[in-house]
Amino acid sequence: MEKPFDDILATGPSSCEEVARLLAASDAERPRLFARAAGVKREHVENKVYFRGLLEYSNRCAKDCYYCGIRGSNTRVRRYTMTGEEVLAAARHAHDAGYASLVIQGGEIASPARTREITRLLQQIGEATGDALGITLSLGEQSRETLREWKRAGAQRYLLRIETSNPALYAKIHPRDARHDFQRRLNTLRELRACGYQVGTGCMIGLPFQTLDDLASDLLFFREIDADMIGMGPYVEHGDTPLYRHRETLLPRPARLDLALRMIAVLRIMMKDINIVAATALQAIDKVGREKALKAGANILMPNLTPVKYREGYLLYENKPCVDEDAVQCKECLEMRVRLAGDEIGYGEWGDSRHFARRTGKKQETNEARTTKIP
Ligand code: SAM
Ligand code: SF4
Repeated sequence: MEKPFDDILATGPSSCEEVARLLAASDAERPRLFARAAGVKREHVENKVYFRGLLEYSNRCAKDCYYCGIRGSNTRVRRYTMTGEEVLAAARHAHDAGYASLVIQGGEIASPARTREITRLLQQIGEATGDALGITLSLGEQSRETLREWKRAGAQRYLLRIETSNPALYAKIHPRDARHDFQRRLNTLRELRACGYQVGTGCMIGLPFQTLDDLASDLLFFREIDADMIGMGPYVEHGDTPLYRHRETLLPRPARLDLALRMIAVLRIMMKDINIVAATALQAIDKVGREKALKAGANILMPNLTPVKYREGYLLYENKPCVDEDAVQCKECLEMRVRLAGDEIGYGEWGDSRHFARRTGKKQETNEARTTKIP
């Protein structure tokens, strides 16, 4: 006999069917799903939101993912890579603003020159801030040697979304070649774990061809690989990409947003002590999409610190928010959003995944000791 909704809610889902059942909560059940997720968040990670200053370091990319506005073969994008000085200035800004953490994200370039450049930047950021910033990298699939080198140079966390855990769907949204291979992505996630990173992954929600079972499997996949942090958000179409031709088949945007919020709520119930990002793409669909995500169980926000002159070059999808807002405006707007959602900001705290600390038996890293080194 099918387990009642409230029983699954109370015990947490244990099968794909049960995860899908929670995701498909009726209008009457929906408030109970979100109340349970909010309760779990309060109990396991508190109502604290951590900021990670986001640097969209470079839009040069050797890959051609069918959904992404900065895919290598989109000739309408003006390509850029931030200079070392710009990265360091942004890192100092993040530190001064009390963000305590920085995310360096960019297109996938696997070359000795890119590896050296990132290593140098990591070392310089460490020197400039007295190792006070927690650093997350999100630079796509890289070799074991490169990942180890970056870890040694000062990166602690790495974000690599699986995008979808269904290999058949993965094949539909990527070119069929060795560079866009599902197994290769999976192997990189394993390498990240072996290198000792806090491992972040995630998926896009509302992709063409995607089913509710696919999404339920994504959540189970995150639990199976024991991820420390998850960043997932709605897929948002972009006119210069091959997937755009399927736009008529997509869920309407409000329904996509709602599905993304359900995903966050169910994930919080399933993985109580991980970090969950309120993804920027939520705000592309709904002005208060990220606040809604905080209420649904997310606890990480990524204020954009990319210099405004580059923002037009990093349009992954349509309606990308804050394209013309500078870092100060972005911070003020996020502070207000966090307060509206009833949370507080963990300024000056790394906000490492509690799950990582538990998984590795390591005491949670904080920057308290480190900040004393700063002159
Ligand atoms: N190149 C790295 C990678 O792919 O892992 C990091 C940068 S990539 C732009 C970061 C994420 O953007 C991807 O993992 C993907 O999920 C997301 N993304 C790309 N195009 C998107 C779209 N059209 N809608 C929503 N998210 C998108
Ligand atoms: Fe490149 Fe990442 Fe965009 Fe794929 S999602 S095209 S790897 S930037």
